[in-house]
Amino acid sequence: MGEVPDYPEIDPRDRGAGRSRPLCYSAAVNLTDLTLIELRDAIARGDTSSTEATQASLASIAAQDGALGAFLQVFEKEALEQAARLDARIKAESAGAVGALTGVPVAIKDNMCLSWGRTTCGSRILENYESPFTGTAVQKLMDAGAVIVGKANMDEFAMGSSTERSAFQPTRNPWDPQRTPGGSSGGSAACVASRLVAASLGSDTGGSIRQPAAHTGLVGIKPTYGRVSRWGLVAFASSFDQIGPFARNVEDAALMMNVICGADELDSTSARVDTPDFLATVNQPLTGLRLGVPTQAKDENNHPAVLEAFGAVVATYQSLGAEIVPIDLPNIGYGIAAYYIIAPAEASTNLARYDGIRYGRRAEIGPGEDLVALYSKSRAEGFGPEVRRRIMLGTYALSSGYYDAYYKTALQARRVIKNDFDRAFGENNVHAVLMPTTPDPAFKLGAKTEDPLAMYLEDFYTVAANLSGLPAMSFPVGMAVEDGVKLPIGAQLVSPAFDEVRMLRIARMHEAATEWHLQKPPS
Ligand code: GLN
Repeated sequence: MGEVPDYPEIDPRDRGAGRSRPLCYSAAVNLTDLTLIELRDAIARGDTSSTEATQASLASIAAQDGALGAFLQVFEKEALEQAARLDARIKAESAGAVGALTGVPVAIKDNMCLSWGRTTCGSRILENYESPFTGTAVQKLMDAGAVIVGKANMDEFAMGSSTERSAFQPTRNPWDPQRTPGGSSGGSAACVASRLVAASLGSDTGGSIRQPAAHTGLVGIKPTYGRVSRWGLVAFASSFDQIGPFARNVEDAALMMNVICGADELDSTSARVDTPDFLATVNQPLTGLRLGVPTQAKDENNHPAVLEAFGAVVATYQSLGAEIVPIDLPNIGYGIAAYYIIAPAEASTNLARYDGIRYGRRAEIGPGEDLVALYSKSRAEGFGPEVRRRIMLGTYALSSGYYDAYYKTALQARRVIKNDFDRAFGENNVHAVLMPTTPDPAFKLGAKTEDPLAMYLEDFYTVAANLSGLPAMSFPVGMAVEDGVKLPIGAQLVSPAFDEVRMLRIARMHEAATEWHLQKPPS
């Protein structure tokens, strides 16, 4: 691809200001209002083109992203080049020949390697990192005919639940600019919720797709561990990390799954399983559906609007003929403690590679200072406070003398949490577990930055699926109203391993019976 686009050296608050040139675009429909499948079909029919769709997306980004902060980089030139190439192919061959995404613009989280631009991972230490290659999941999007319009903002190294830990800028929630969109994939969520693109990719290590999806009114999927290749995903915690889609509805998310899933010889942890057609059956309701609702789902500490919305989801499923099976996940309460030992332990190992020599920003050292000084200065300058906290937590948990007390105990907790789910799917014979995605709706910027534990508790309902390797998804099920502002609420399904086809069908049953996914943030 052509030259590397500028990474603007400007005050984060002004980001996007330089991009406000209006692009010429006129059409009866607003292309950015179309869902992924609608837009794909419109391009395939010749009602519009990839170039027009990409221009519309770039124009919306130019107009809105200065205030939103969803993007770290926008690839105006490359995106239009990709779109022109796709349009030429559609003309010369056919829309089908171009692939399942037929020219639609999408965004990717900035921890995914792309062979142009920069892959910063939201961190100063990788601020100038140019990946020499494109990761598998992103390459699959491009092979299916998607246009990559930009890289979305994220908490540094995906550590966080609010996107405020990005070294570059916070991202705001499109429903209320005073609130965070959640995190760590907050940029990927915000750009889809505010209709800048129809779909995006995020990564989920402890909830980073599902929690922002819940906070912005989207569908977000964490596939089964191993379902999507992590080749080219900057590692955070390797036994948890998964890539997954954000979309405005279940069908669009299913289409994204069709594109990104699959075994990959470049990722030895990717599962050697076939990729089903997630979209083909998504509209088939499940007869005899049994949903497990854990006692812990109705925790009285949950926000009243979350409790109310959850009650409504359960009622909707009952009205659709589902049997609600009360279950117990007695060990879910250990999830946060186990996750915040194991994930930092893995992170402390993964992040050892940023030494300022081989990878990452290199600090200046004075005469007489040695290699150790170079390492420690580079790392101290390059890593933000949350990343440093995780490295210290992880290193401590792995150190001799503490390994058994912390790391080993956390692994045991991980096992009993997995056993709880196995019991639900086995003895209780439920198709999926239904519970809230988050205890609260989106919170205000700054509300939890001084209190790491409060931030970690955001992940109460989400980490269990990562600890167990199970597929899980969040979908919109209600609205809270705070200070007169509407804030989306999500519910979560956790399914047996590799059972995403049914998980999507179950979510689609609710979606087809309700209208939460049609709500649009104020513009
Ligand atoms: N909020 C969790 C954390 O900070 C999860 C992050 C993620 O899923 N990437 O670790």
